[in-house]
Amino acid sequence: MSELKLKDLYDGFRDPATIRMLAAQIGEEAKALHEPLRIMEVCGGHTHTIMKYGLPQLLPDNIDFIHGPGCPVCIMPKERIDHAIALARMEDTILVTLGDMIRVPGSQSSLAAERAAGRDIRPLYTPMDALKIAKENPDKRVVFFAIGFETTTPMTAALLHAVVTQKVDNLYFHINHVLVPPAIDAIMSDGQAKINAFIGPSHVSVITGAKIYAPLPQKYGTPVVVCGFEPVDVMQGILMAVRQQKEGRAELEIEYSRSVTMEGNVKAQQLIDMYLQPRSHFRWRGIGDIPDSALELRDEFAYLDAEKVFAEVLPTEPIDDHKLCICGTILKGLAKPMECKVFGTACTPNSPLGSCMVSSEGACNAYYRYAGVLG
Ligand code: SF4
Ligand code: SF4
Repeated sequence: MSELKLKDLYDGFRDPATIRMLAAQIGEEAKALHEPLRIMEVCGGHTHTIMKYGLPQLLPDNIDFIHGPGCPVCIMPKERIDHAIALARMEDTILVTLGDMIRVPGSQSSLAAERAAGRDIRPLYTPMDALKIAKENPDKRVVFFAIGFETTTPMTAALLHAVVTQKVDNLYFHINHVLVPPAIDAIMSDGQAKINAFIGPSHVSVITGAKIYAPLPQKYGTPVVVCGFEPVDVMQGILMAVRQQKEGRAELEIEYSRSVTMEGNVKAQQLIDMYLQPRSHFRWRGIGDIPDSALELRDEFAYLDAEKVFAEVLPTEPIDDHKLCICGTILKGLAKPMECKVFGTACTPNSPLGSCMVSSEGACNAYYRYAGVLG
């Protein structure tokens, strides 16, 4: 019997013949649409798939993609990056975070520049590595700059659980876990972006359950299809959205039924609830303050909260983007990366001016990398 390889599991979801067949089906069914279908892909992972596989070129003119706020690195405002830098500058401190965060520019510096200047800043492969670093360095304090959407929150909650139950006393948390549905709500209530369907990220829903999107179709009359990240998944999700629009339906549907349920992972949700609570508001880059759109540590764990314990070193003023950067407009679905005057010139992945060019899931980064596909 031949050995099963990882690629055998996803090859079928990247099959060119299947993608072309779905494109033909979408093209046929889209002829019956009364208005163009403007689909926001909420997640940067989807933007990446769409650009990498050149999906816009396979679709009819009356279907357009609007890139959403879908990357936690992209939506982090500069003052939070300045927090990370201020924490890293404290004596006897090790700052640990996700790799992508290290290159994002803050107002004056970046974690990469601080590391080059001698600060102890370490990228993590998994949040649990922070525990190991804290135990190996008992005479230092370790600050975990935690970032991510609903997908990564359980890993932070698991780390919190380990720190509390093992009574580790030198590991602190700066929590930047943001929530997808309030951001969609903010974009839709603003009314400027003309969006009439959404495709939502499957991995977020594996944890939360697809139910988190349930209010959106009713409130805004827009179909929401939760779909996977392979090109066949995305095309299938688009076909489902086209059908809903054609039939005058606005429903929540799951394309990625191989892992997503309505309820999600209840154990992970309970672990999160044990340590984290909704934050009254959080400033999203380009979008502004959104109520209840992020999490913070529960009051009983304030002694682990770097924002409270080290409040005196943290800047408090909001900081706007570089004046040439239109990341904010892109994140709200009002512009595409090519519309930025410095795209690919003053701003490239090697010297990014804004966060959408830094993150591997940022829209500007995806356009830059796959510009050849766009031709
Ligand atoms: S972190 Fe997950 S949800 Fe966010 S952009 Fe990346 S893949 Fe999408
Ligand atoms: S190309 Fe660079 S400067 Fe322009 S919007 Fe994107 S990240 Fe900002």
